[in-house]
Amino acid sequence: MKITELKIAEYEKVASCVDGDYRGFIAIHSSKLGPAIGGTRLWTYANDEAVITDLLRLARGMTYKNALAGVPFGGGKSIILRDDAIDRESVFLAHGRFVESFGGRYITAEDVGTNPQDMEIVRRETNHVAGLLGRSGDPSPFTARGVFRALQAAAKYRWDSEMLARRTVALQGCGNVGYHLASNLHNAGARLIVSDVDPAKTDRLVKEFAATAVSPDEIYRSDADVFSPCALGGVINDQTIPQLKVKIVAGGANNQLLEERHGDELNRLGILYAPDYAANAGGVINGCRELLGWKPSQSAAKLDEIYDTVLDIFRTAATEGIPTYKAADRVAERRWKPD
Ligand code: NAD
Repeated sequence: MKITELKIAEYEKVASCVDGDYRGFIAIHSSKLGPAIGGTRLWTYANDEAVITDLLRLARGMTYKNALAGVPFGGGKSIILRDDAIDRESVFLAHGRFVESFGGRYITAEDVGTNPQDMEIVRRETNHVAGLLGRSGDPSPFTARGVFRALQAAAKYRWDSEMLARRTVALQGCGNVGYHLASNLHNAGARLIVSDVDPAKTDRLVKEFAATAVSPDEIYRSDADVFSPCALGGVINDQTIPQLKVKIVAGGANNQLLEERHGDELNRLGILYAPDYAANAGGVINGCRELLGWKPSQSAAKLDEIYDTVLDIFRTAATEGIPTYKAADRVAERRWKPD
């Protein structure tokens, strides 16, 4: 195993590792609030520069996400270069050894391209891994509950009432998070307009929650109060913004703004945007049951705090005259960078 450290300003530790066919990278952005936690991505990149750029962005994002979620963890991330002829066992064993070399300052979990079975292999070489089979379980209901709380906070800020009864929500993506969010919204008396590329997913919501299904293209121009992206990233962009009739954008998808300027544009149009990484932190919070032995009631209380955090972001945005996506970073920095 050959580990090479890279010195990068503002990052506590960044290193690459070669171990047989394995090539991996780990970055710790900050461990000020606790050990850095962040998943392992298995992906293909054009070159090493592209890997490092993605790695640094994702690790820094985890510091902000964990700080906003109020969990005692810093931010980190790892990337394994994907090879078509991958021998998953030897690759994830090597990754476990690399994680172990950080001595507990970095804790990994699954991410894009990896799964709980892979984490079981990592576990054979290190204890510093979460997302194992049969532990904290499917995070989606918790993520959805957090998104629901963010939606209530947005309603409170926009309409002075967190009640969602008789409000119409246009929900994009009826997968794991979308389904559970729809359930929360239906129970709260909201009306649902839903879309998915898979008709079986929308059919279920039509049957169970009296939703109205529309095509994936139509969802943006729905006559709704809220647009809730729960499928892909980058859906708030030059093509979709002019179609929106809603007053609020709040959902579970990661990286909803294609570019930051699209957050500025929502702000200019008076559409209240609940920043994605504040709204979708429920999965991270649920992970504390596995990592810190939190009781379900403890993580439920922390999930509820997403409501206050999102309101804090809206108020900070108003006081400082900035868009909400920037205010989210300010609120996070208050928590992890108090000096
Ligand atoms: P999922 O794969 O279960 O659901 C995504 C759904 O979106 C699928 O049903 C898919 O068919 C649908 N979809 C894909 N393209 C679409 C399109 N163009 N229009 C409409 N629907 C489309 O994934 P998930 O776990 O529900 O995650 C949804 C989003 O939330 C992702 O962006 C994910 O990164 C983010 N997220 C999830 C969690 C979690 O706990 N699962 C936590 C944080 C963030």
